[in-house]
Amino acid sequence: MCGVVGYTGTRQASEWLLDALQTLEYRGYDSAGVQVVSPSGNLHGVKCAGRVAHLRERASVANLNGTCGIGHTRWATHGAPTDRNAHPHLDCRGRIAIVHNGIIENYQQLKRQLMMSGHTFSSDTDSEVVAHLIEDAWAGPASGNLALAVRNACDRLEGSWALAVVCADAPGTLVVTRNGSPLVVASTEDGAYVASDVMPLASVTSRVVQLQDRDVATLSPDGSIAISDRDGRVVEHPTAITIDWDASAATLGGYSDFMAKEITEQPEAIERLLSGRLGEHGIELDELTLTKAELASVRHVVIIACGTSYHAGLAAKSAIERWARVPVSVEYASEFNYDEEYIVDDNTMCVIITQSGETADTLTAARRMKGMGCNVFAITNVLGSTAARESDGTLYVQAGPEVAVASTKAYTAQMVASYLLALRLALAKGCMTREEVVKHFHDLERIPDLMREVLKRRWQDKQAVRFFRNKTSSLYLGRNVNSATAFEGALKLKEISYLHAEAYPAGEMKHGPIALIEGGFPVVVVVPADHVHDKTVSNIQECLARGAAVIAVATDGDERVAKLCSEVLWVPRCPNELIVPAVSVLHLQMLARYVARDRGYDVDKPRNLAKSVTVE
Ligand code: GLU
Repeated sequence: MCGVVGYTGTRQASEWLLDALQTLEYRGYDSAGVQVVSPSGNLHGVKCAGRVAHLRERASVANLNGTCGIGHTRWATHGAPTDRNAHPHLDCRGRIAIVHNGIIENYQQLKRQLMMSGHTFSSDTDSEVVAHLIEDAWAGPASGNLALAVRNACDRLEGSWALAVVCADAPGTLVVTRNGSPLVVASTEDGAYVASDVMPLASVTSRVVQLQDRDVATLSPDGSIAISDRDGRVVEHPTAITIDWDASAATLGGYSDFMAKEITEQPEAIERLLSGRLGEHGIELDELTLTKAELASVRHVVIIACGTSYHAGLAAKSAIERWARVPVSVEYASEFNYDEEYIVDDNTMCVIITQSGETADTLTAARRMKGMGCNVFAITNVLGSTAARESDGTLYVQAGPEVAVASTKAYTAQMVASYLLALRLALAKGCMTREEVVKHFHDLERIPDLMREVLKRRWQDKQAVRFFRNKTSSLYLGRNVNSATAFEGALKLKEISYLHAEAYPAGEMKHGPIALIEGGFPVVVVVPADHVHDKTVSNIQECLARGAAVIAVATDGDERVAKLCSEVLWVPRCPNELIVPAVSVLHLQMLARYVARDRGYDVDKPRNLAKSVTVE
């Protein structure tokens, strides 16, 4: 959650800080702030509830003269999203400023101690204790050494943090550290930069260094970065990674919103993902660290994820079970983590799915799985992310930066990535011949064009918006692999239009949710031409009998469904039932977006949400 940025160098800090916050705003946007150190050694800042645009207005009339500073966009965990709770937070003397991403779990105890020793607090946040702890360290044993003061303060913290700290008594010095929350630094000719992720850095460099937990980095105006590790040892040659996303990938490029852009980018994302994957031995998946024999002996796959990635996991389950004949369990990371009796054995393989690679719950689950001796395979979108670093193998879905909070292109890319894994497993286990694998791969290669066809039909989604006007609830239904699409479609609607949507496997609907249906109640039914088509049509009839307005997602030419339903979102015929979810979900993404816009909401930054959920 939230965005942390910092800069020290030769340019005016506030210019880049504000631009960077705008780029990071998808990580949190309930308040924002910046603080700079002036050349005369004073701190100047502005912070306020609301968006970065609002902060910019305030900044334009404030004195933010300084070449070293920090900034923050907040996703509140402790304390309401108000001006006073916005970061940066200062120490008692107003000489030290900090921005924090994460949660200080022992803040109450620390706050009590600090107050007893005379500190006064100006906010309700957990974060503010850090400024006061650094103040004490600076006044005591670490006097004059900001990095040491930060390290001493962090020794007393429990929880997760990415911190950036400046001090008026050390102008030009910027100290950053992390534990559990991501932070990347970059050294350039005009100074040194830090940010929560690579996106704002893409405009200044292509080489970045990911800090490790408990590293403390001191950034200097000449661009140099001195890093010491958790034991205080100097990190001589930190490993830099090259950002291969061009900066334009994170700009709107003519679209009205990022969600529209990212929905449209799905065909290219899948093409990138599939390119070079077919080889002599079937599916090329060198990222897997299991040998062919080990793959052949996998008896159980446990997929762990949260939110949209969990729905990609549901589709993955269908593919792995159907193609590789291995039983699959799909678990919510937050549930799995506290299920002390979870059973795995030597032949269990774990797959984690996380767009950002920083999802706190999923990372905890992966560590737990590794602790239980499982091979952990990550499917993620972000190069060098914690998930990638900590897993045994990583498949990058290469969807490119996803800025809209509601995931779209990462979802379909995750799904298709998991299909590659399913085919690889199928071959290793002897469930498919190489020829069969190749045939399935060619089916996957048809997804981009099928998606392009659905994108052309967005007018159908726009037309369906009328069924959601003045409604407070809706139902999404689908069977088997298409229930994943129903779940994902309902989640999209909830996330960005704030309209309640309940998703159910279609056959389960009659065991309860059917009671919701009354005249005009919108029910979205995913009913492609597949082996359960008749059964799902029966469910449509049951909804219609109670007066529902049924919006179907159906296969071209399905006259029966067309006659029954109020609106049909047409999907071209797909070569394989498992391809359908990757194609049909585009309609539900677009439908959710149109409903949200119809209601006047910002589709990229829905309330209460943030892009990468780095708190448990
Ligand atoms: N826990 C801190 C707060 O509520 C930081 C939240 C964040 O990561 O934005 O202010």
